Amino acid sequence: MGALPLPTLDQAVSALRDGATSSRELCESVLGRIDTVDSRIGAYLYVDREEVLADAAAADRRRADGSQLGPFDGIPIAVKDNMAVRGQPLTCASRILKDFVSPYDATVIERLRSQGFIFLGRTNMDEFAMGSSNENSGLQATSNPHDSSRVPGGSSGGSAAAVAGGEAIVALGSDTGGSIRLPASFCGVVGVKPTYGRVSRYGLVAFASSLDQIGPLTRTVRDSALMLDIISGRDPRDSTSLPEPAGGCASCLSAASVNGMRCGMPREYFEVEGLDPSVRECVENAARQLEAEGAEIVEVSLPMLKYAIAAYYIIATAEASANLARFDGVRYGLRDSEGEAESLLAQYRLSRARGFGDEVKRRIILGTYVLSSGYYDAYYLRAQKVRTLIRKDFEHAFTECDVILSPVSPEPAYKKGELATPLRMYLADIYTISVNLAGICGLSVPCGATESGLPIGLQMLAPALHEKRLLQAAATYEAIRGDL
Ligand code: GLN
Repeated sequence: MGALPLPTLDQAVSALRDGATSSRELCESVLGRIDTVDSRIGAYLYVDREEVLADAAAADRRRADGSQLGPFDGIPIAVKDNMAVRGQPLTCASRILKDFVSPYDATVIERLRSQGFIFLGRTNMDEFAMGSSNENSGLQATSNPHDSSRVPGGSSGGSAAAVAGGEAIVALGSDTGGSIRLPASFCGVVGVKPTYGRVSRYGLVAFASSLDQIGPLTRTVRDSALMLDIISGRDPRDSTSLPEPAGGCASCLSAASVNGMRCGMPREYFEVEGLDPSVRECVENAARQLEAEGAEIVEVSLPMLKYAIAAYYIIATAEASANLARFDGVRYGLRDSEGEAESLLAQYRLSRARGFGDEVKRRIILGTYVLSSGYYDAYYLRAQKVRTLIRKDFEHAFTECDVILSPVSPEPAYKKGELATPLRMYLADIYTISVNLAGICGLSVPCGATESGLPIGLQMLAPALHEKRLLQAAATYEAIRGDL
């Protein structure tokens, strides 16, 4: 792919501070790159060129007269199409929201806006964040920047592809069962899923509310730390957001070391059927490099892994079926304008039948079924019990280690259309979904590539609220890994 034309976030901050670049220059180079490569990659659903350049001019004026909003003033960022940015489309890559424009800012967007970030546009995703490849987008296909015949991963595939393809300096994604970490690993960028409650979900279109978290996709670990410091923290508009003070993620990296850190390798994770040898090799190699740096590698056990996919696909679909009820063509969504519907019920039916794609419908049906009377105890309640056991698995493992190392996905980016059945797609989530069920934090950091040059990610996990430890481990690894 060659060297990327854009600076990292950290480099952009320094260049703006030193007057080596302007917001206009940064935005023009991003827009120029989008013009050159996005017809091939398809990362963006929408780019507001004029607005971006007007915002850049305003940021440059503020810097010139000393009234800049902070070190990030004038830096452009890409946003997954399920977070509300005032005045921009918000479609969740669904036909049902095709013409919806957000009247307000999500909390994360408000925070970024107050720092002077410029919202470049909307990135593609699996419809309502349901999927792992972006093939479920109702609007557009996105290709992996490393190989156009392959998927970028999902559901935040547009954000990962934009960063990997040099079409964004940084991006935001959301992770309900792996949707930041998986595309980060497929595209060769860093992606962080914060602890549940760390980042406000206000203004994020809900998929599964007890699992959803917003997080950054960036080129470096340091850039993700900078982003987390801005977007984390208590928000009175999201009752699940945590009161614990956030911040300090970037500043803790200067003292980063893994000396004496215990890195756990879960036995069951390496016994997964279909684990690609090149993925195993890269992850084991990363562990050896960390060991050479003073970390202690220990084997741990997460025996509930085998129930994770079943529990996740019950809980996530149950929550989705409730959350998506509002898209009925009246409160939100496509309305049949031809007057074909004969009754209100028929109108709902028509709107939802036309507006939702197959995977979304499948999940609404599954979720409604597992919540229905008679099946609730057998499925939903049971899955909640399994969820508690999964959380306990991690609690126990973290008495024996400080961070966990694992693959992100059993395979590197696959060919479009290759995982042809929904079940095959669900099974590929084996390494990521337990993390959301347990509510802990995790990330993907590039750790190598296949012979043909497809990126491979290393997943690192830490207990809830231990983002600093997680980022320190990842930054140390990134430094000793060398260039890929
Ligand atoms: N692949 C998982 C799913 O389809 C996770 C998606 C996500 O994290 N949003 O549900």
